[in-house]
Amino acid sequence: MNAQPATLPFDPLRYRADFPLLARRVNGKPLIYFDNANTAQKPRQVIDATEAFYREHNANVARAVHALGAEATSAFEAVRDKCARFMHAPSRDEIVFTSGTTQAINTVAYSYALPRLQVGDEILVTTMEHHANIVPWQLVCERAGARVVAAPITPQGELIVEEFIKRLTPRVKLAGVAHVSNVLGTINPVRDLARACRARGIPLLVDGSQAAPHLPIDVQALGCDFYAWTGHKLFGPTGTGVLWARREHLAAMPPFFGGGEMIREVRIERSTFADPPHKFEAGTPNIAGVVGLGAALDYVEAIGIERIGAYEHDLLEYATAALKSVPGLRLFGEAARKAAVLSFLVEGAHAHDLATLLDQEGIALRSGHHCAHPLMQFYGVPATLRASLAFYNTRDEVDAFIAAIARVRKLLG
Ligand code: PLP
Repeated sequence: MNAQPATLPFDPLRYRADFPLLARRVNGKPLIYFDNANTAQKPRQVIDATEAFYREHNANVARAVHALGAEATSAFEAVRDKCARFMHAPSRDEIVFTSGTTQAINTVAYSYALPRLQVGDEILVTTMEHHANIVPWQLVCERAGARVVAAPITPQGELIVEEFIKRLTPRVKLAGVAHVSNVLGTINPVRDLARACRARGIPLLVDGSQAAPHLPIDVQALGCDFYAWTGHKLFGPTGTGVLWARREHLAAMPPFFGGGEMIREVRIERSTFADPPHKFEAGTPNIAGVVGLGAALDYVEAIGIERIGAYEHDLLEYATAALKSVPGLRLFGEAARKAAVLSFLVEGAHAHDLATLLDQEGIALRSGHHCAHPLMQFYGVPATLRASLAFYNTRDEVDAFIAAIARVRKLLG
């Protein structure tokens, strides 16, 4: 890829050519991949970096003194620096590699929250959270006699900020919020929420899974305490992710997983632990995956996350207008600030039936509850369809999608 000069209009086709899978045909039709919020496709730069690691450098990290061990360790650790830069973290030592957001949030739940929770305490989330930002808190709350509470949202899909702030009582020991909703696309006002939390001494965890591929992330400007994201939605390999946490939190947190790589000294009776971030990285990590993640960050940075966001915003507006022209279509999530995610239902068509028929047309989109049961309950529906866009998607694809909805709808009677 030669990134386009920023002065030229964004050309998705130029980047699309980097993604081998997007050239595929599915069910005899050119693939239209609109399931990017689920997982994004990978450019050849990421595939090549992962393969080159296995072909040329494969060894374990932080163990061997031989040349390959040193190469593997330096390739792996270089990505820690890239991640710190990507998120504007004050220090590379605040970057913990995880298998994804789910592991990152569980780490905070068990290492940070559980030792602090007491009977009657609360963890505050919102109605629009992914299960990964609900269930880990429930598990630790159950052990401690605490409970999870949620701040409500409007029917348009925006968090009611005053209600969130009202719920920040002394009982709340931690708050967790999605930066961007995976179902509604809503961009939450994280900076304001972090300010309110900080004023009350309550740490804020931000689930950045759906933000990292679309928005610049600056944890210092946001003012949060923990920020989690997942590599596979950012065009990187599956099984990669990052937990960023303030240095003082990481220093005070006991490790959650134990084993090799995370210790200073081990005696049969007890052990002492390495400094963060290694204290939280027990066992052999996904080394090749992390190397691929580094290539994904380079790729996104070469295009420019602001340019990606601006193009996707334009595509979102185009797709929103097009979808709204479909008779009987109900759109979920009309926040003033939103990322390129469109959840909807079409009158008379079950979400799964429509998704199955669209798949026959080569269109991949998700139907279901999107790991957001409380949000589905709020809207009183069991499932929605979700089209989630990336910078390699085009207006032509949106047009083909709208035409396909009209065609398959006829089949459903
Ligand atoms: N949080 C949000 C908002 C998500 O969209 C997802 C994935 O869909 C997750 C958390 C979980 O990410 P992972 O499965 O990569 O751990």
